[in-house]
Amino acid sequence: MIKVALLTIGSELLDGRTLDTNVNYLAKGLSQNSFSVANILTCADQIDSIVDALTFAYQQDISLVITSGGLGPTTDDLTREAVAKFFQTGLIIDPEELAKQKKRYADRGREFPESNIKQATFPIGSQIIKNNFGTAPSFLVNKGNRWLISLPGVPSELKGIFQEEILPLISRIFTPEKIAQKRFVFFNIPESALNDQVSKLKLSEEIEVIYETSFPENKLILKSKNLPELQRASEQVLSLPAKEFLITCGEQSMLEVIHQELIASKQTLAIAESCTGGLIGKTLTDQAGSSEYFLGSIVSYHNSVKENILEVSSKIITQYGAVSAECALEMALGVRKKLQSDIGLSVTGIAGPTSGNEKPPVGTVYIGYADNNRSFTKEIFFSGTREQVRRFASYYTLGLLLKSNPKS
Ligand code: AMP
Ligand code: MG
Repeated sequence: MIKVALLTIGSELLDGRTLDTNVNYLAKGLSQNSFSVANILTCADQIDSIVDALTFAYQQDISLVITSGGLGPTTDDLTREAVAKFFQTGLIIDPEELAKQKKRYADRGREFPESNIKQATFPIGSQIIKNNFGTAPSFLVNKGNRWLISLPGVPSELKGIFQEEILPLISRIFTPEKIAQKRFVFFNIPESALNDQVSKLKLSEEIEVIYETSFPENKLILKSKNLPELQRASEQVLSLPAKEFLITCGEQSMLEVIHQELIASKQTLAIAESCTGGLIGKTLTDQAGSSEYFLGSIVSYHNSVKENILEVSSKIITQYGAVSAECALEMALGVRKKLQSDIGLSVTGIAGPTSGNEKPPVGTVYIGYADNNRSFTKEIFFSGTREQVRRFASYYTLGLLLKSNPKS
């Protein structure tokens, strides 16, 4: 696998003035194209710092370094000088590039600033890579098994050149082996418990196993060059007890799957929210086009709304409380009836931070589900802050929808 290091150059990245979005963009683009990013470095706009960073990178058995920044015309743009110093070569003005730069100014009736000669200057022996998105061209240097590409720092230019020029170029030079991946999204199982189960599988050494947590999901990613082995490993994962907590397989998020499946099955959905205060409605409507299935959410926070709008009987609230399976069920049935939807969902719980006397403990949540054929409730308990309990409850309710609706 081709090991790549990224070096972002710019003092503004080190003192926090600018968020390094280039590194994120490049790392993603390279990984998706089967290059392995082994190191990410950032250094100041100083020749010695850049040379030190390059020295470090190539000592780590790196074939290709991609730099970002420092290609502008000002005195603090020092990438060309540093690269020339590192490769022990000089700098040269490219006459063709200089003519282009001058013409750009002449076409606008402007005087050519001497500083711009810098943008037509390159380390001797480098290959100039055109920049259709700005004025500073990029360049490639190769000495033995060390390759280096310097890109401008302006994000729109970097992205444009990367897609248009760099990806095709490095794919030709290095022809990376294709790596396939399988992605599994789990919910409500701790990362460590998932790890314990996956470790017992004794997967082939050709499988790279990656865990990724982004609350409230835990993702497992399997990568391999060997497709049959990857397929076998995926089947092994699907045989684990953790399958019970599997939300989706593949690149889509849970919300995208719900969105797609409710549209395909032509079902409508209505929700009665108590402790989530409208968060589920917000989450669903974050997806453009959700009006095709989502009729609305009734935020029945106060018991009077549960009783008067959702028709939850006051007897149920007095006898079992508003945070109860009985109440959740009536809420789901009530919202389905009121909004005339195919599916009714409900959620009622104690988000905290405190729970009233004789109420269930903080983190207790009841979810109700009702469609044309059946209705049921689920009791769950989440620990965490008020914000976490609410997010967890929202996510869990949608997860329950995905798993419970036979057509979705
Ligand atoms: P430079 O090519 O170094 O002169 O960078 C030009 C401008 O691009 C800087 O002033 C920053 O605003 C922006 N920039 C440079 N490097 C990055 C980076 N790594 N991530 C995001 N923006 C950057
Ligand atoms: Mg800079």
